[in-house]
Amino acid sequence: MRRAEVTRRGRPWSAHGRSKLRPYLYLAAFAAIAAAAQARAPADTILVNGHIITVDPQFSIAQAVAISGGRFTAVGTDAAIKRLAGPATTTIDLRGQTVIPGLADNHLHDAGGGPGVDLSRVRTMDELLAAIAAGVKRLRPGEVVTTNSDWHEAQLAEHRLPHRRDLDTVSPVNPVIVVRGGHEYILNSAALRKWNITKDTPQLAGGRITRDAQGELNGELVDRAKSLVQLPPAPSLTVQALVEQHKKLNAAGLTSIRYPGASIEQYHLLQEMQKRGLLTIRVNHLMRVGADTAEKMRAAVASLHVKPDEGDEWLRVGGMKLGVDGGFEGGWMREPYAEPWGEGGTFFGVNTMKQAPYTDVVKELNRLGWRVATHAVGDAAIDEVLSAYEAADAEKPIAGRRWTIEHGFIPQADQFPRMKKLGLIISAQNHLYLAGPSLVSYWGPVRAARTTPMRTYLDQGLVVAGGTDSAVVPYPPLWVIYHFVSRATISGGVLGADQKITRKEALQVETINNAYLTFEEQTKGSIERGKLADLVVLPEDILTCPAKRIEQMQVAMTMVGGTVVYRRP
Ligand SMILES: [Zn+2]
Repeated sequence: MRRAEVTRRGRPWSAHGRSKLRPYLYLAAFAAIAAAAQARAPADTILVNGHIITVDPQFSIAQAVAISGGRFTAVGTDAAIKRLAGPATTTIDLRGQTVIPGLADNHLHDAGGGPGVDLSRVRTMDELLAAIAAGVKRLRPGEVVTTNSDWHEAQLAEHRLPHRRDLDTVSPVNPVIVVRGGHEYILNSAALRKWNITKDTPQLAGGRITRDAQGELNGELVDRAKSLVQLPPAPSLTVQALVEQHKKLNAAGLTSIRYPGASIEQYHLLQEMQKRGLLTIRVNHLMRVGADTAEKMRAAVASLHVKPDEGDEWLRVGGMKLGVDGGFEGGWMREPYAEPWGEGGTFFGVNTMKQAPYTDVVKELNRLGWRVATHAVGDAAIDEVLSAYEAADAEKPIAGRRWTIEHGFIPQADQFPRMKKLGLIISAQNHLYLAGPSLVSYWGPVRAARTTPMRTYLDQGLVVAGGTDSAVVPYPPLWVIYHFVSRATISGGVLGADQKITRKEALQVETINNAYLTFEEQTKGSIERGKLADLVVLPEDILTCPAKRIEQMQVAMTMVGGTVVYRRP
């Protein structure tokens, strides 16, 4: 009915063209159309019929977007965007699905996995030991068995680590090194013998050889104590391995990642991938070098032959990574660990780099024009970072240069004004989601519930970017959003409900705030005209679905620079 009307109206319109004035109107109209066409050739791709959460400053919702040359050229209604299609335009019908900006991870070492025994899916101590027993069977007597690092005891029903005696039951002869996260190994008796670690082995500064209640070694080596053993050489990182990892990340909705302290060799591989057009994810690469004096740092930086912030929207150097404390079992605290970990109120965590050399190195990096990103978990570690950053700032201001605290688990009220004055960005992750029950036992319920206090950080007016620390924590960014909005953990219930943030805030933390972290908020992080066309299609509305669905939903499609890099089969 309406259609017929439109057709009928069309006829008289062309008839009017015969009047004397009409040719001018036609000419003017054609000129305008031609100018518009020149300025805006048909889009390469349009996505229509969607629920598009743009994460622009107004948090606008759109129906459709147009993409040309890898960037969003228009965001608006279906009708407006459909007009931008030409004969060669690819049209994607979203069929009502939700679109969000491409998700980012501010602190991702790798995508997990590896050549060791896979413990990521075990859920009980028996399953863990069975997996190691199977690994032992594949080797000859005396060969060393290792595990991958991407698991945590909080995922086990028992909520505890396997110790030396547990491991001995499945491997009395072969040395076993259970690698857990980035800060800890657990050895069986054969491995302790192989590397000659006994009760008489002195503790190393910045590390810890742990004992059980009877004073016997339990096999745990924390932080610098790990250097007492040598893992079998890992297979060398290759372009192919990185391509495969990036594909896994794309499938989870990631379009940008930040490598928090990787080697120059890895940077060179990424450069080669960019040259060959193999990058499917945007990379911000923090360098890491071993140096504990200004002089050594100067020499190490010079040997990299890399300029701070060099690169483009695909691959960019993002600064220098440093660290001053351990992780879950070594975060350096003002107050001791909870018992028995506190060892009678004497264990405060591990200070892996002392104040004086750390400050020395930080000041030198500032002089050299490098940004600093420091791993600091406990409040005492944050004190050390703030003191060093302030000392550097006194020589040459750092405010506005977006230096960061990586993790920042346990900040204290007196530290927020200092963070703000220095213009620091908080690089936060969802460790609590995985490790909640362990953190309760290490630090007590009060500190555990305050771990990574997102609500407080945002209320203090700090910019917080989000991520995972993969493979310490699994990489799916939707799990990060789920945890930040619910404070739910995998196996320990809700911890610190007062630290929940809203879904809109969580989306910002995972998108535009990450772009801000790397000085790219003008080019990505939201769906706005002119920005890079990085987006994720979700089957449900992430702003209104039941919270648990955020954790469970599967990404339908991921696009980077207007190219589909993942489509759910
Ligand atoms: Zn890390």
